[in-house]
Amino acid sequence: MNRTGFVWQERFMWHFTGPAAGSYQVRGDLQPGVHVENAETKRKLKNLLDAYEVTAQLQAIPFGEATDADLQRFHTPEYVARVQQLSDQAGGDAGEYAPVGCGSAEIARLGVGGTTAAIAAVASGEVDNAYALVRPPGHHAERDQGRGFCIFNNIGLGILSALDAMLVDRVAVLDWDVHHGNGTQQAFYERADVLTISLHQDMLYPSDSGQTEEMGESAGEGFNINVPLPAGSGGGAYLAAMDQIVLPALHAFKPTMIVVASGYDAGYFDPMSHMLLLANHFRQFTQSVMKAANELCGGRLVINHEGGYSDFYVPLCGLAVIEELSGIATPVRDPYAATESVANQELMPHQQEYIDRAKRGPLAALLARCEAM
Ligand SMILES: [Zn+2]
Repeated sequence: MNRTGFVWQERFMWHFTGPAAGSYQVRGDLQPGVHVENAETKRKLKNLLDAYEVTAQLQAIPFGEATDADLQRFHTPEYVARVQQLSDQAGGDAGEYAPVGCGSAEIARLGVGGTTAAIAAVASGEVDNAYALVRPPGHHAERDQGRGFCIFNNIGLGILSALDAMLVDRVAVLDWDVHHGNGTQQAFYERADVLTISLHQDMLYPSDSGQTEEMGESAGEGFNINVPLPAGSGGGAYLAAMDQIVLPALHAFKPTMIVVASGYDAGYFDPMSHMLLLANHFRQFTQSVMKAANELCGGRLVINHEGGYSDFYVPLCGLAVIEELSGIATPVRDPYAATESVANQELMPHQQEYIDRAKRGPLAALLARCEAM
């Protein structure tokens, strides 16, 4: 059993994204329903943890709202003020598909506080590893605008805070959310002390970023790895990308901490993407990243919840990750595990071509940079 920290606050669930058709915010032109980024996926995961007495075995990490100074480690003062203004008034969009409801600014500040506290608790050894079940998500949030349901960049800000406090000096971020981690990439694009790796569906969101050619700039050149995978990729392609790109990159970079942006929207049942992963695949990713963390950085690993929009499947994927992270076993079985036999899960040649492109491009660039250091 590990001492696994846990970040959760019911107030995360009160961030209201408004009526929508999917993620489209209706304006009287379509029947309004619940926005895909609503509280249910995450609340059902928390309820599942409670129902099987997992929460009580995790170590609750205390945290509070991020201050303006905390947020301005990455975001511009103008953007921070704009989010606050929208939130204080009737709400609105903080950029592109980034709904802010009444009071969402304080909740988003709390999300940043939660991820920051999880990173600090692992860095300082208070816990062995941690899971931050925060909302709203953060990995699309850019310096001066919210994007893709994200308001503030939870992981970026948490790492910047830990670097400033000298709790860590080399951090690797692995983003397995199905969308490109564009905001986190932007935060560290010119830094050599934070390696960012994103596995995502090619040309999904944002469609103008996430290509293998984006490898970092100036001091950060070589320290950003994108592995776009084609729609229809399953466990075979993802596990090959882990073995052939992610693990060699982590071993070359030798981080003192690993942070995972864990979205579950590459799941088979997700309404926002076209990948085929099952809960057991997220379990396998967790095993592999824990093994790397044990070999490289004393097991220091923070897993931060990002996207994932199937309210019945995200909880099963999240539970699998938390079971591995903590060593707590529950009797819960994935009733959809047999989907593995009907979906095309094996690595296919065209998927390997995408991985080869990342191997020749950004992985080779990273290995060259690390060798020269
Ligand atoms: Zn996503």
